[in-house]
Formats: sequence, C-alpha cells, structure tokens
Amino acid sequence: MAGECRRCKKKEAEVYLPHSNLNLCSDCFLLLTERRVKHTVNAYKMLSKNDRVGVAVSGGKDSSTLAYILSSLFDKVDIFLIYIDLGVPDYSEHCLYKVNELAKIIDKELIIYSLEKDLGLRIGDFKSTIYGRKICSACGTIKRYLFNKISYDMGLTKIATGHNLNDTVEVLFNFYLEGNVESLLRMKPFLRRIHPKFVPKIKPLIGLTDMECLLYAEYRNLPIRTIDCQFSKGSRMLRRKELLNMITERMPTFMHSFMQSHFKRILPTLEAASKNREIKLYECTICGMPTSLKGAPCHFCKLISTLKRRA
Ligand SMILES: [Zn+2]
Ligand SMILES: [Zn+2]
Repeated sequence: MAGECRRCKKKEAEVYLPHSNLNLCSDCFLLLTERRVKHTVNAYKMLSKNDRVGVAVSGGKDSSTLAYILSSLFDKVDIFLIYIDLGVPDYSEHCLYKVNELAKIIDKELIIYSLEKDLGLRIGDFKSTIYGRKICSACGTIKRYLFNKISYDMGLTKIATGHNLNDTVEVLFNFYLEGNVESLLRMKPFLRRIHPKFVPKIKPLIGLTDMECLLYAEYRNLPIRTIDCQFSKGSRMLRRKELLNMITERMPTFMHSFMQSHFKRILPTLEAASKNREIKLYECTICGMPTSLKGAPCHFCKLISTLKRRA
C-alpha cells in the first residue's frame, strides 16, 4: 500500500522513487520530472533564448520524453525533430510511424533522413564492414555523423539527445574500467562548439533514470515503439546494465551520486590536469566534417568507402 502522495497529500500515490524515497501521485511525478529536467538544463546552461535545437528522435521512450518536455518547458526555443531511418526491416518503419505521431502531438517539424533514399544504403549492407562485431557500432557512427551534418546544414545551434542517467553511468563506468581518460574528457552533459562544423550537443535527461523516462512517456501517453531492433540483442551493455541494477538495488542513490561526483568533482580536476591535451578536431579529408582523426577520412567516410570497395 503506497498511501497518499508525499507532495500534494491529496491523491493516491502511484509511483515510488527509491533514490529520493518518495511516493508520488501521477500528477506530482510528472511535475517533479519536468522540474528536474529544467534544473539540469539550467545547471549546465544548456539552452539560451535564440537557440534552434534539433532533437534526435528514435521512437524510444527517452527521446520522446525529451522532445515533449523541451517543447512544453522552453517555448522561446525553436525545436525540430530529426529522425534517421536506417532501413532496419520492420523496425525502422515502426519507429518512423511513432515519431510522426509525436511530431503531430507536440506540433513540431519532423526532419526525416533516409539512408536508403538519400544514400542508397541499408544498415544490413554494413555487415561486411564490421568484421564480426555487432552492427550497433556502425549504426552509432552513422547516426552521430548524420545528426551533426543535418543540424549543421540546417544552421541549428544545438543537438539534444535522450541519454538518461542509466546510459550515462553505464558509459562512465565503462571508461573508468578501461582507464579511458580521453573518452572521459569528451563525455559531457553539454559539449560546446569545439570546431566550426561541430554542432554543440546537450543531454537534458541525464538526471532521469530509465524507469522515470518510461513512466513519464506512459503517463503522458506518448507514442513509443513497442518492438526492439533485431540487431540489438545480447549486447555487452546488457551485462553492465544488470550489474548497475544490482548495485542500485542495494544503494538507491548510487547512480545519482556517481554522476554528481564525476561531473562536479572528478571531471573539472581531470580537465585542469590535462589542459595541454585539449580535445582537438580535424577536418575529414573526404567530406570536410569534423573528426578526431588527423589527416584522414572520418569514421563515417571510412565506413562508406569500405562498403563501396566491397560492392
Ligand atoms: Zn501528488
Ligand atoms: Zn568524412
């Protein structure tokens, strides 16, 4: 029995948030969730008045929640939804349908990039380029590249992605295990313009857990996908997810504390200590877009040229 909502003390509580030990009714849950996103956006100064923001949408719970909250809280900001159709059989069409519905609900323009129509490719074609690794790595490279390219070409000032607290802690945890300092320095809630053709990236949902994003999307009745990508099964990330869930069960504030200490304490110290190796970006020798590789094609152009050589 959850009893009454701890905030309004009127309605029946429906949601329990272990990290803050709160029982909330659905209205108070929605309100507090929106406040938390607003707090993250303000704390990291992610948005300013004349921003034109591209929201990377996928049909999933996180990006739908993100698009909905940004468009209802920040009405002074221009918002566009961007969807990349990778041509995954059944899945991509299903997701496209959902993001179309979402765009109608929040009344925002939806920009659709189709790998097949615009580039003559399908994600399955990339099987030959990944040498037995999971195709998700190619998918990540393609999406990162295209979101930046599309936003840059449209003159957008920010790209917002739906990475939540779980995603963030999983990735950080991984970098810690690998001792990957370079990647730790690049991983930020707000990545500023580090190259003229690099569109700044923001992650307004890093304060929300997986469960909170799901509940938010459900309570708001947002259109979200109900099938999984056929390529994403059994990935290595899943085992780490389980591990983090085990820790969080024993210590409900674990993920929140981990992220806080990282971004507020550890990262600034790391940055100060590595001033002379600031993140540098170069221009791709093929397409001219920014890349971390000096005097070479970017990861995207490499993928495409491998594919063409094999065709
Ligand atoms: Zn309430
Ligand atoms: Zn390139």
